Amino acid sequence: MVRKGLAGSSPAPGTRSSGRSDPAAPRLEDPQVHLTGRTRIAPTPSGFLHLGNAVNFLITERLAQRQGARILLRIDDLDAERVRAEYVEDVFEALPWLGIQPHEGPRNGKEFQEQWSQQLRLSRYHQLAATLRSQGHLYGCVCSRRERILLQGTGRSTCTCRDQTRDLDAPDVTWRLRVPERCPVKVRSLFGADVVTDLFELMPDPVLRQRTVDGVARPAYQLASLADDVDHGTTFIVRGEDLWPSTVCQVHLAGLLSLPDFQHVRFVHHPLLLDDDGNKLSKSEGALALRAMRERGTDPAELRSMADAVLARIEGRT
Ligand SMILES: [Zn+2]
Repeated sequence: MVRKGLAGSSPAPGTRSSGRSDPAAPRLEDPQVHLTGRTRIAPTPSGFLHLGNAVNFLITERLAQRQGARILLRIDDLDAERVRAEYVEDVFEALPWLGIQPHEGPRNGKEFQEQWSQQLRLSRYHQLAATLRSQGHLYGCVCSRRERILLQGTGRSTCTCRDQTRDLDAPDVTWRLRVPERCPVKVRSLFGADVVTDLFELMPDPVLRQRTVDGVARPAYQLASLADDVDHGTTFIVRGEDLWPSTVCQVHLAGLLSLPDFQHVRFVHHPLLLDDDGNKLSKSEGALALRAMRERGTDPAELRSMADAVLARIEGRT
């Protein structure tokens, strides 16, 4: 379970003992006691962190301070084949450089591997997929990536697999969610009004389990992220705008899975930083990688200013 380190978390440095006999009871003078909200910083260690990641982390931290929320460091290593130890280490070097101290989560690569990796929680994600399967919300898709790309030019938003009955346990079958053709979803906003949008228009039939490879089928990001947020008690999430369809998908899934707490999670979707050519920043080793900035002595205060400017833009448009 992700919900760990709560009762046993250490008091903040410099706090006085309350003198209570129960060591697990919260101390009123502990400055973290009032932190009732929860959020997370959730990098994916499939590349080195870049400026865009830093801006996301710093906005998250700023809003956590304002909202009175604890921050979990959650390293999303679901796609194990793309994870490298140096990318994980990069997270533990970048956060202190940025001046960010998560309240919960791994403090180093060893703790991450032993206690916090998503690979330790696969059964939880599979359990959610199995529940959706038992409810009849899934179908098996055998389309190749190329066939799915070609589909986009046909005017159809779903493949013909949707209309067939396939054995979900057969090899080479991807599990997809059957999204109703009219599927309004309400997403709560941290700022401004809630938004009602249609999942079918945004993301018809997302993959919830990848096809089996070497006897192993990986649950999809949508389920893992939802499960982790639910089990951690997340109350608000800060994401790039590119994840808006994922947000809508996850809120819909929470409804199907009777996870009402997630339907009350509040969201901030911030604009993405673009490179000089107008493209989304990728996890590169280029000049905008945080480790390159550390090496050339960039002042992290510059990044904080940048994050505050992005946050001001978000708040100004609501
Ligand atoms: Zn298909």
